[in-house]
Amino acid sequence: MLNKKIGFIGSGKMAEAIIGGLIKSELVPANQIFASAKTRETVEKIADKYAIQTTIQNREVAAKADMLILAVKPDLHKAVIEEIKDIVKSEAVIITIAAGITLDFLETTFGHSIKAVRVMPNTPSLVGEGMSAICSNDETNAQELQEVIRLFESFGKAEVLPEKLMDAVPAVSGSSPAYVYMFIEALADGAVQQGIARNQAYTMAAQAVLGAAKMVLETGKHPGELKDNVCTPGGATIEAVTTLEKHGFRSAVVSAMEACTEKSKRLK
Ligand code: NAD
Repeated sequence: MLNKKIGFIGSGKMAEAIIGGLIKSELVPANQIFASAKTRETVEKIADKYAIQTTIQNREVAAKADMLILAVKPDLHKAVIEEIKDIVKSEAVIITIAAGITLDFLETTFGHSIKAVRVMPNTPSLVGEGMSAICSNDETNAQELQEVIRLFESFGKAEVLPEKLMDAVPAVSGSSPAYVYMFIEALADGAVQQGIARNQAYTMAAQAVLGAAKMVLETGKHPGELKDNVCTPGGATIEAVTTLEKHGFRSAVVSAMEACTEKSKRLK
């Protein structure tokens, strides 16, 4: 159990994924989680679902939080920080989860020394399989950083990275669930084309992706070796692999990631 009050400014898709993951993990009890959003409708929905404390007053959340998570869009950070900066606890750890928001931007906008952490999580946090990349400023001590890691590891994996690599994170794990869903949809379409029922096709495609991902994480084998193991010489799998290569499968993924990284740098 982490004996901290966790505050969320913004209660959208990513905040909900983290709140859902945290509650499931039981690391923080629901009555120690506080969240705000712009509309009553949003906060009531999240309060009903997770039994956490909610409000439409950002300052109420900011005043209580030991760990304050800024979960609004990047372009709203400046206005939100101006609104709350005089009421945040002096010992609070301020965490932004927004693409493109730097530690320097947080420090400069608060205008005084703060414990600042940048985290890039992803929405599979909701089901306990999140991937979060973390970096912190010098004001954040080792114990505080460990607590942030513990928080984000309670619903998945976390990696500490130097800040200069944070803009590369959305492409590989923050945004990539979107393209994995496209891949699963494409696999299912291909299965339906061959006559497999749609609901069975989604289960089969998603489970194959889940299983392949687990093979990479749990065997520690190189993905190329795992791919080679599936490809019988002269068999059907190598036909699929070489056809994907002909259509530029890998270069399409890498180009998409470059575009994602460039856009992430421009968001603020
Ligand atoms: P979202 O649009 O679902 O949620 C934004 C939330 O902010 C809403 O609840 C909205 O009511 C609230 N809000 C708007 N103005 C506000 C204000 N002035 N004060 C308080 N709350 C306000 O967006 P999201 O997808 O949850 O993204 C939120 C942040 O998370 C972004 O900065 C994004 O870069 C980051 N992020 C998102 C993902 C993802 O997969 N969705 C992944 C990693 C990081």
